[in-house]
Amino acid sequence: MSTPVLILVNKPAVGIDVPVSTQPEFERRDPGEPQLSVLDLGTTRGDGVFETVMVSEGRAPALAAHLDRFRASALLLDLPEPDREVWGRAVEAAIAAAEAEAEVETDTAGLGVLAVKLVLTRGIEGSGRPTGWVLAQLARDFTAVRREGVRVVTLDRGYRHDVGRTSPWLLQGAKTLSYAINTAALREAARRGADEVVFTSSDGFVLEAPTASVLLREGNRFSTPSAEVGILPGTTQRRAFEFLRSRGHDADAVRLRASDLHRADAVWLVSAVRQAVPVTELDGRALEVDHALTTDLNAYLSARQAS
Ligand code: PLP
Repeated sequence: MSTPVLILVNKPAVGIDVPVSTQPEFERRDPGEPQLSVLDLGTTRGDGVFETVMVSEGRAPALAAHLDRFRASALLLDLPEPDREVWGRAVEAAIAAAEAEAEVETDTAGLGVLAVKLVLTRGIEGSGRPTGWVLAQLARDFTAVRREGVRVVTLDRGYRHDVGRTSPWLLQGAKTLSYAINTAALREAARRGADEVVFTSSDGFVLEAPTASVLLREGNRFSTPSAEVGILPGTTQRRAFEFLRSRGHDADAVRLRASDLHRADAVWLVSAVRQAVPVTELDGRALEVDHALTTDLNAYLSARQAS
């Protein structure tokens, strides 16, 4: 599958009708052709929300959780509610088209891992119509990163841990299209000789990485920052906890201080496509890596069945 599969969603939200000029609720388009207006608020303001769904062997094991978070993000931005049924069908259509293409190109059934992106923007200013699309692409191969791990620096995000309650207009906890801060933080990490970032709140709580949740282990106990500190509730973190509990470990979402992170025996960054990546160094301190557990966790995360 050398070119991405693009599906334009003509009926992206509840109460938004399909325009008369376009009959189907969604349709396949050529990603090599211009599709998006330069007046779209998603482009000019980053005013919209998205999800990135991992598809393994043609299945999206966390699709329901992604659709839940897509809805929650849209509502936080006062966007119209995404039409769950339409988006679910559009994602399935994108996966089917990607599989068909891979079969033609390689003459074998089945695909590697796909990253399927769902995007909903506020649309063209004044139109009152959101814009929506689904893009399925072959995922980058993260095998080496999962094995070798990443060096992490902590960076202050500049907000208190209770910013979601005191200043909801800052949209912490929504997966918005405005990721310029997240990528700026990664460039700052590179300047400091690291690969990745864990954000902390201005009052010293552990938050999240720019595109991943944080998981830590102290002894036999696993934890992650709870979503009430103004972070995205991670779909992968949730699945990782299912795996850890099935192995008899304690795993809880709690408020974590930066000192907890620095005391941890092991730390991982977890996200849908990259999956679980061990942290080898935290603010210059070498960390232990449990390669066997990381391998088993990643095998669970890429399993095709729904969890
Ligand atoms: N936190 C942030 C800021 C993210 O952007 C992401 C994913 O992109 C995550 C956490 C992890 O979420 P998920 O596991 O659903 O990919």
